[in-house]
Amino acid sequence: MKTFDYLIVGSGITGATLAYLLHQRGKKVLVLEKRGAVGGNVATRVEDDVIIHEYGPHIFHTSDERAWAFLNAHCEVYPYINTPLAFYKGKYYNMPFNMNTFHQLFGVNTPEEAKARIAEEVAREGITDPKNLEEQALSLVGRTIYETLIHGYTEKQWGRKASELPASIIKRLPLRFEYNNNYFNDVYQGQVKGGYSVFIENLLQGIEVRRNTDFLADREGYLDLADKVIYTGRVDELFGFCYGRLEWRSLRFESEWKRVDEFQPMAVVNYTDKEPAYTRITEHKKFDPSCPNHHSTYVTYEYPDSFAEGKIPYYTVNDEKNMALANRYIELAKRQGNLILAGRLATYRYLDMDDALMEAFALAETLE
Ligand code: FAD
Ligand code: UDP
Repeated sequence: MKTFDYLIVGSGITGATLAYLLHQRGKKVLVLEKRGAVGGNVATRVEDDVIIHEYGPHIFHTSDERAWAFLNAHCEVYPYINTPLAFYKGKYYNMPFNMNTFHQLFGVNTPEEAKARIAEEVAREGITDPKNLEEQALSLVGRTIYETLIHGYTEKQWGRKASELPASIIKRLPLRFEYNNNYFNDVYQGQVKGGYSVFIENLLQGIEVRRNTDFLADREGYLDLADKVIYTGRVDELFGFCYGRLEWRSLRFESEWKRVDEFQPMAVVNYTDKEPAYTRITEHKKFDPSCPNHHSTYVTYEYPDSFAEGKIPYYTVNDEKNMALANRYIELAKRQGNLILAGRLATYRYLDMDDALMEAFALAETLE
């Protein structure tokens, strides 16, 4: 008999949730985490009373009752509505694209006026079959919105011309004919009191977690410890890149304390022009209206970056070539006994936190 029923590689929201669910069922679980702290990319730390989102700004949003109930059962959640701003050539614009934005851009006041203006711009482009992101955006919102709010941001984010990116990326931006700056359409939205790491640490209570421990550094040794392995790391790395390397986009964060109470007019401001090179600035304490620090504020400049070994893989590049390669690895994993892939890195998909929770719930139900 082995010491553990399950070895879980990675303590992100996926690994921690699975560890919790299995532990609740009386399974013996060991979690390995190669970083010094748990939480993966949702990890937070607290400094001078400010909750710092270590790997980019995170807002929990969902329409799934179970995911929302689960979060609330394991930490205190307070209401928070994400209303990021965009900054372009000296002016702020509301996001997502809504009546406030249309008023700022076109001076229009009603949905009819806004729709007519956008329809006119869309018609001028004459695109019937959009073949890339640029054409997709122009055919949806016209040139003014595209140039002011999409073009520069997107090319910085992906490091490629918008005309060379898949159209699918831009489908995620809603167009709304109300004066409503809520970025998400979900029923529930909030932030975790004390930060997401509190939630993750609560899930992992009573479970053995080995930090600073890379599963791949002694794979055989760890496999000897458990009957089954749930792996939430990069799938290509797991198999020694035998079919080739998946592409990722990385990010570089430059952070500093500013000796002022407030730095910018919103927690997140997107910089949508080609310059500066960063895509957004996050002012962390603005996620937390109860933050008692009024003498300083922590801000993070977020620079898109190419990926290389040693950097963190943040975004998948979901074009056909990479999807096909990822599927080959996923098929290979299915042929290994007792190996289960879970989470965004192992399944090579962009997952929001609630997606990660829902997938963990569903997977746990299939496990013995
Ligand atoms: P990860 O968080 O990546 O966890 C994987 C873990 O496995 C890591 O801790 C890693 O160190 C560990 N690991 C990997 N390989 C090994 C190994 N060999 N040995 C040991 N450990 C290993 N979602 C939202 O819902 N709302 C948001 O506002 C939001 N904002 C985001 C902003 C940014 C910039 C990004 C990049 C993502 C955002 N997300 C957001 C998505 C969110 O970050 C993911 O849903 C979440 O991180 C997925 O968790 P995971 O556990 O699947 O992966
Ligand atoms: N995007 C944009 N302008 C913005 C914000 C986003 O053009 O101000 C585009 C960009 O192509 C980005 C995509 O919309 O990659 C998705 O952005 P979102 O903020 O929804 O997701 P995230 O970057 O957090 O994954």
